[in-house]
Amino acid sequence: MKPYRPEKIYLERGAEDFPGAGKILSRLPGVPVEIVEDPRALVAEFHRRPDPIGEGKRSLLLARDRGRAFKPFPVPEGTVSCNFYSLHLVEGCDLECSYCILQAYLTNPLLTVYVNTDEILGGLEKFLAAHPHETFRIGTGQLADSLSLDPLTAHTETLVPFFARQPNAFLELKTKSVNIARLQKLDSGARTIVSWSMNTRRIQREEEHKCATIEERIKAARQCLEWGYRVGFHLDPLIDYEGCLKDYEELLEMIFSEVRADRIAWVSLGTLRFLPELKSVMERRFPRSPLPAAEWVRGLDGKMRYFKERRIGLYSDLTKRLRQLAPEVPVYLCMETGEVWRRVFGVEPNQSTIAERLNCLPSLTS
Ligand code: SF4
Repeated sequence: MKPYRPEKIYLERGAEDFPGAGKILSRLPGVPVEIVEDPRALVAEFHRRPDPIGEGKRSLLLARDRGRAFKPFPVPEGTVSCNFYSLHLVEGCDLECSYCILQAYLTNPLLTVYVNTDEILGGLEKFLAAHPHETFRIGTGQLADSLSLDPLTAHTETLVPFFARQPNAFLELKTKSVNIARLQKLDSGARTIVSWSMNTRRIQREEEHKCATIEERIKAARQCLEWGYRVGFHLDPLIDYEGCLKDYEELLEMIFSEVRADRIAWVSLGTLRFLPELKSVMERRFPRSPLPAAEWVRGLDGKMRYFKERRIGLYSDLTKRLRQLAPEVPVYLCMETGEVWRRVFGVEPNQSTIAERLNCLPSLTS
């Protein structure tokens, strides 16, 4: 993987006062910097460009977050909630997956780093202290890849010690990169889980551009285990093609032959789903991808998915193989309905069965 280097940096007026901005600028010598008074005007200008998303990835906006950085993961009605919270220190991604939902979800195409990290984490600490009897699973990988920009932002050096101090929260860093170097010397207090989105070699090669190979991701996971972290794997998005089941089973075999099952916090399964608007974006930006032409149905939440029976079939077959390979590893479904959960696992999804599946905090720290 090539280290990210933007063609231009946009610095929101006032953001330079935060130490995070200075550190990022010092790691990008020679990149032109323009001060912007109003990022909204810049965003509007990018939307008029021929490829706003591609150009947005090549431009870095350093801005100040104004209270939107921490929130519950949005769960559409009818979908089972995994009680997950998102922390957005970065919005956007330098990597290029054809199916990336951010291409249709984010209204700001610029790769944006919020530099007032201390302010954001101060607010989060107060929130956690106000809810001492709840346990929060918080991730930075909803609107970004958690580690792809870490060589630049060094967010892990702040986040991992921060979560080590929180008695009622743990952090998930979810990535398709191998930018783990900064994790080596950090003491996570067993409250950081490093997880990888995994796919078949074919999907990685054809659809996950600029990302680490599957072998590199597994090697990085093994390294994190050696440094004392727990790891997770997300087989998400599962993509249906002829022979995919065999390829996904091979992927599981590869993971469990390399990684100790008792150090895996969880494995999630989730088939590809996306806002309808993404289809035309994929057709325009990735004309060779077969994904837009597949058969999709629109769900109650408005998202496009594979037919329910096909999803249940994939989940059931993979869960069966997972159970053979690693009977104790917690498995859950991402963004699926209660009916699909029941038909795959044979149990009613509720907060206690989900917490059990997510191997929540008490057992993580044991
Ligand atoms: S790594 Fe994740 S966030 Fe980045 S382009 Fe791929 S799907 Fe999108």
